[in-house]
Amino acid sequence: MQLHTLFHGPRPVFSLEIFPPKKSGSIETIYATLDSLKTLSPDFISVTYGAGGNTADTSTVEIARHIKNELGIEPLAHLTCVASTKGQVDERIRQLRDAGVENVLALRGDINPDVPVAKDFAHASDLARVIKAAGFNVVGACYPEGHYENKTLETDIDNLKYKIDAGVTHLITQLFFDNTLFYRFLDLAAKRGVTVPIEAGVMPIVNTNQIKKTVVLSGASLPPKFTKMVSKYDTDSEALFQAGVEYAIEQINDLLSHGAAGVHVYTMNNPRVAKLVYEGIRPALGR
Ligand code: FAD
Repeated sequence: MQLHTLFHGPRPVFSLEIFPPKKSGSIETIYATLDSLKTLSPDFISVTYGAGGNTADTSTVEIARHIKNELGIEPLAHLTCVASTKGQVDERIRQLRDAGVENVLALRGDINPDVPVAKDFAHASDLARVIKAAGFNVVGACYPEGHYENKTLETDIDNLKYKIDAGVTHLITQLFFDNTLFYRFLDLAAKRGVTVPIEAGVMPIVNTNQIKKTVVLSGASLPPKFTKMVSKYDTDSEALFQAGVEYAIEQINDLLSHGAAGVHVYTMNNPRVAKLVYEGIRPALGR
């Protein structure tokens, strides 16, 4: 099923993101996680690609195949292009097609000083065009606070139109914690001609490790409600866990009450968190 059809349905789209296990050879661990996530009946599950610039890793394809064929859920395979030649991308496309994958999130990838740029693809839109031509449904990434390489949010939004011209049918946002920034982004995007549905990416923050690594790296603005939560429960891991789940539930319910086209939950491969969040947003999802 091509994912763009989901946005014509009566209810908001609900999707999940997982990442391949860090150590090769431990792919089975993700299958147990996926068995738990299946009970949430997500519209699709996306699988990240090329952690740390390692684009030789085929686990994204293998996991997407498992999601499609063993779980009967639509996978969205991420694919980056900045460090890949056209030949390598063509090979990955062939593998994805063999695995029955119909949807690809076309990404440029971060420019890593330790990994040479391959020069065949400068932007995600270049990859999107190739993937679209190969018959896949193409999805793109977007940034409610602007991508870090741009001086202004407006320029970044204008650049999104290259992806849409290349055939991207919907966008998924980078994580954010302040919904007002997402609403501002939606408004600006609509005014500047970005017409495809935009799914809001939300990451429940449930431990201090995540705060140190993911939150700081993302550069996302932290509203006072968030920083108060973190400082209040800094030394109480269970209380921080509960508060983090609650924060994500409130954030998503607010997004859905404002008519968000869909929510994409960054699960961090933690089914317990995903389930708790799902229970808290289920009525708003209409499920
Ligand atoms: P682009 O769309 O190419 O944008 C990159 C920069 O170039 C932006 O500043 C943009 O404004 C500018 N730009 C775009 N087109 C043009 C143009 N024609 N002319 C001039 N400037 C232009 N990374 C991974 O390695 N693996 C993953 O699985 C992964 N999954 C992600 C999922 C989501 C939902 C998001 C939001 C990000 C993900 N990333 C992933 C990170 C992503 O690869 C980085 O943020 C990367 O820096 C930008 O990728 P992009 O696809 O948005 O690039």
